[in-house]
Amino acid sequence: MATINSQNLYSEACKLTPSGVSSPVRAFSPYPIFANSGSGCVIVDADGNKYIDMCMAYGPLILGHCNHSVISAVKKQMLNGTVFGMPSEPEIELLKKICEDVPCADMARLTNSGTEATMHAIRLARGFTGKKIIVKIDGCFHGSHNALMVNKTCDKKKAFSDGIPYEEISNTEIIRYNDIDAMTKLFETNTDIAAVIMEPIPGNMGVITPWKGYLDQVRKVTRENDVLLIFDEVITGYRVSKGGAQQLYGVTPDLCTLGKIIGGGYPAGALAGKTDIMEKLAPSGPVYEAGTFSGNPITAVAGLATIKELTQNRYKKLERKTKVIVKSIEDNIEDSKIVATVNSAPSMFQIFFGKRNVSDAYDAREADGRTFESMFRYMLGNGLYLPPSKMETMFLSTAHTYEAVDKFCESMSDFIGKIA
Ligand SMILES: *Cc1c(COP(=O)(O)O)cnc(C)c1O
Repeated sequence: MATINSQNLYSEACKLTPSGVSSPVRAFSPYPIFANSGSGCVIVDADGNKYIDMCMAYGPLILGHCNHSVISAVKKQMLNGTVFGMPSEPEIELLKKICEDVPCADMARLTNSGTEATMHAIRLARGFTGKKIIVKIDGCFHGSHNALMVNKTCDKKKAFSDGIPYEEISNTEIIRYNDIDAMTKLFETNTDIAAVIMEPIPGNMGVITPWKGYLDQVRKVTRENDVLLIFDEVITGYRVSKGGAQQLYGVTPDLCTLGKIIGGGYPAGALAGKTDIMEKLAPSGPVYEAGTFSGNPITAVAGLATIKELTQNRYKKLERKTKVIVKSIEDNIEDSKIVATVNSAPSMFQIFFGKRNVSDAYDAREADGRTFESMFRYMLGNGLYLPPSKMETMFLSTAHTYEAVDKFCESMSDFIGKIA
């Protein structure tokens, strides 16, 4: 596959922006493939090569690239204006949908990104409770602001970036996913906890699913200890079901954050929750939150058009396609006797090599990254674009045909055959 144009664009980009990319996950060696266009489940690169897209921009494109309803909604809105610095009707329409669909959402506030949503959600939780500590689950990702850019490596709390003074993460406590005892114990010894923030189904350490009853127990102990529960549903909101993981598992948090899908391919985020908490936001309340482009009408109409397309039937079909893929990979693993496992939630899945079970960040970090990288390259060479890291997740969209699913399964089977 010729990728000379990508290579040239990359050399030019490297002079203009660090490592040639606008966000670090997009980089891989020797150089990333540059996208030129997308349509449905297919992406075309700068050299005209076509790939089945299993990354879908890391989550927003649940309808695939260039969905017609989204395009026509955006075209129409463009002619009315793009940003007003005044409230406008499209944002009210989007908010109305969110409050209808998402169980915890009595009210919501629109932001420009998931990062902003979680940053403001924890500020709101602290402002509402008057308490200081935020509990984070090891391996969950909530965007790139200081307080949540922290994980636990070798049992030591550590910011996962330079430039973050220890003071900035000193009020963040880290515990493992799927470990209710650790949470209970932390609550017993610490009375200054404002909130727990977590991805209910983590999608930033591959995909990890909750053990039976885990989310119910989290809800129970947070409530018993007057700790707010924040579900970061930036990935799972409108993906695993219309109402997100909170609907899928029947566990309602106090606050949640949304992003990715609710922008229909445009930059978006939201925080949502119970009225008494949400009303603490400025200007009526004392917790400040603001943004020039927040509630942008283009984003709002694109998000709305997307949500309107997401019928129950479409969710069922997405789930069925996911099961076909997962079953196929599991069969390959069994037949070839390699050590590997697949984790999945509706329309998202990830394979971990060298592990039979992956249920938290420790397991995910232990999975074999070299084999994953070989798989990534093998698939790329076969016209399939996957997220380049084992700590991401593959996504399906309503635009993925069974032909695309079959091609993915066949290539995956060939790869596993090769390494067995
Ligand atoms: C992507 C993501 C974010 C950050 O959203 P941005 O729009 O990239 O700022 C936050 N939380 C989760 C769970 C995410 O996957």
